[in-house]
Amino acid sequence: MKTWLPHTQNRPKILIVDDQLSNIRVLHELFREDCDVFMATSGEQAITICQAQLPDLILLDVVMDDVDGHEVCRRLKAAPATQGIPIIFITAKQQDIDVVLGLELGAVDFISKPINPVIVKARVRTHLTLKLQYDLLRSFALVDGLTGVANRRKFDEDISADWRKCLREQKPLSLILADVDFFKRYNDRYGHQAGDVCLKSVAQTLSETVRRPYDLVARYGGEEFACVLPKTDYFGAVEIAERMQKKVRALGIEHSTSDVNSVVTISLGVATMTPTGDLEFKELIDAADQQLYRAKKTGRARVCASVTPEMPLSVPRC
Ligand code: GH3
Ligand code: MG
Ligand code: MG
Repeated sequence: MKTWLPHTQNRPKILIVDDQLSNIRVLHELFREDCDVFMATSGEQAITICQAQLPDLILLDVVMDDVDGHEVCRRLKAAPATQGIPIIFITAKQQDIDVVLGLELGAVDFISKPINPVIVKARVRTHLTLKLQYDLLRSFALVDGLTGVANRRKFDEDISADWRKCLREQKPLSLILADVDFFKRYNDRYGHQAGDVCLKSVAQTLSETVRRPYDLVARYGGEEFACVLPKTDYFGAVEIAERMQKKVRALGIEHSTSDVNSVVTISLGVATMTPTGDLEFKELIDAADQQLYRAKKTGRARVCASVTPEMPLSVPRC
């Protein structure tokens, strides 16, 4: 039973970095029962594992042959994806100057060698607890209170990170913007609380339409939603948007004052870009917004998609 760790849904991930296998073995023995333990025997290997696994805590040896612990710390703190991972230095170097340098580089704590298992466990517990609490608070801060999907802040973070990732990998990034049709009239006819319930159902339906773990559905503003689809081409994005449009209509939420249907409908704008150095992700948002505007102008309850030179004419568009 986990007596020394905070309660969590998933097992915490710890990365142990030391160029002496015997040191790794001792630490591995301490944590293997309650944590997923990853091990690295060099600085380069530590960085690679960190990027792939995003551990909750790193126990990092300072003196190593290739890239030393200080350099590993420097590099991890410089990268947005890894800078939030707490690092505890484990070292025989106990001069004040070494401790100060480590702390200045962003380490949260120091443990001296030879290690005392009780002290290591206590310190690891403290920093894992703080990290897990931080993650929990952060996840709350990124969720929209009404609908339960991601909020605008999460959208802003993700689209910027996905843009950079698709630029590096030269993959397409697609964006769908969806807006509920005649929603002001819905509130006027059925009341604001019914409006809230309607928004929750629409958000839920949009979330259920995307399948891959890195696809994001977020509340973009009042009755407007955004769907970010990394590594998804134009055709895939249009298909998802069409599916969203049909599924919301199929909810059959009565809307007697809508001009386009007797039930609630959405209009959607789709845009796809493969990022280049000359483009910014704001241009993708603008392009999707223009398509949403076209969908509204040309009759609502439909999908409009941006036309790009490489797109064949057979693609559905309005
Ligand atoms: P259009 O088809 O052109 O999009 O028309 P619309 O009425 O949907 O658009 P408009 O921008 O005029 O009105 C949006 C409405 O959405 C007005 C606002 O009160 C409502 N709304 C925004 N956020 C919420 C919310 O959280 N709950 C409820 N119930 N209504 C909301
Ligand atoms: Mg609307
Ligand atoms: Mg709107």
